[in-house]
Amino acid sequence: MSSWVAEMESILPGGVETHAPVALEGAKLEATLRPESREALAASLRVSREHGKGLLIVGGSTELSFANAPCTACVRLDTVGIRTEREIDLEEGVALLPAGETVRSVQAELAGSSFELPFDAAGPEATIGGVVASARQGFRYGPPRDHVLGMLVALPSGELVRFGGRVVKNVTGYDLNKLFTGSFGSLGVIVSVWVRLQPVPERVAFVAAPADGHEPAALLQGARGASVRAAVVASSILHFEVAGDEAAVEHDVARLRTLGGEVSSDDAFGGLEEARHGGPFRVRVTGRPTRWAEVSQILAAGGGVVIAEPARGIVRGTFALDDQDERSIADAWNCAREASRCAGGPFAIEAASVSARYGREVYGAVGATAPLQRAIKSRYDPAGILNPGRFVGNA
Ligand SMILES: Cc1cc2nc3c(=O)[nH]c(=O)nc-3n(C[C@H](O)[C@H](O)[C@H](O)COP(=O)(O)OP(=O)(O)OC[C@H]3O[C@@H](n4cnc5c(N)ncnc54)[C@H](O)[C@@H]3O)c2cc1C
Repeated sequence: MSSWVAEMESILPGGVETHAPVALEGAKLEATLRPESREALAASLRVSREHGKGLLIVGGSTELSFANAPCTACVRLDTVGIRTEREIDLEEGVALLPAGETVRSVQAELAGSSFELPFDAAGPEATIGGVVASARQGFRYGPPRDHVLGMLVALPSGELVRFGGRVVKNVTGYDLNKLFTGSFGSLGVIVSVWVRLQPVPERVAFVAAPADGHEPAALLQGARGASVRAAVVASSILHFEVAGDEAAVEHDVARLRTLGGEVSSDDAFGGLEEARHGGPFRVRVTGRPTRWAEVSQILAAGGGVVIAEPARGIVRGTFALDDQDERSIADAWNCAREASRCAGGPFAIEAASVSARYGREVYGAVGATAPLQRAIKSRYDPAGILNPGRFVGNA
């Protein structure tokens, strides 16, 4: 460590902490780096590569367990202190945000303006970089990759590369925004992100309808309303958020009333998001929307507490199992596999203990793309220092 520490301290004065091994995500971390500038971040990646030091990249640490295990890094790299260019342009409806900034602080700053940040209310400390790196999709705004216009990324080579920018359709050739969004820190460290903000809807209404007593197809129809921004089934209640202009909202609320829906002043979605992030063992099945009810039944029969998004074909099951007991983990895993067969789509393990993830591919079946995934990883991170062991195929 010594020569690496010495070189690091010259790059990050006061930003290098060596310590007794700390266990995190299966890794034994012996030092923590806290870069404050993009140049220092890029240099610390280059030096870590030269010394073969694997790095565990940490943002707000609210979703580190959605990854393959064990991680084989020996150093923790914190992103929250990285200060870089920042801009919120309420005329153009775009924002340039440091990756280390929390989603909630940006939402607070935009409160009362005519725009909102199209990232759902992620975990308390969740960062912009963490949401984009994990392509975290909440109930309302759809996948972050639909809102990311540009990025600045630091590569293990020490390069800072910028792609996209403040305007829409500003990429020539491959859309690298889409490659790095959802790459879970396996290709580069996100420094800052250009985001297209969403206009605040004229009206938002919350409707709750009993899920029992209705045909799944009728509920799916309800969830597909033009101004239905979120539709979630939990504990036999279908919660809707209807957002848009007055007439459109009124039209959809009237339709949902035919399903026994009642307008409520209560925004249930905050609580549902928390519940959706429960554990200790959580699976996500993504498939045909028409199969959401059958998939929900399979996961519930296997002991999962189910939260379903019919219109998106996404169904989650949270299993309150002893995550050291291999038998119950295997049962939950087989239940998820059966549910994904029914859904006609993949399943992923969004949360599980490190030991429960050993020898399992949490991101779901990779199939024939594995060699291509490995090729892209080795192009950007030939020494394999970024989040080693955590990405697809334990890359
Ligand atoms: C109680 C709770 C509620 C939640 N509610 C929601 C919700 O409502 N909606 C939602 O979408 N999510 C939610 N989440 C999940 C979580 O907040 C998000 O997934 C968030 O994206 C994680 O951000 P983070 O900064 O904490 O990332 P971390 O957990 O620190 O990291 C997540 C992944 O991204 C990588 N990473 C982090 N920063 C960078 C970077 N700058 N560059 C490259 N890679 C990076 C890490 O290596 C890791 O693989 C919730 C989580 C909790 C615990």
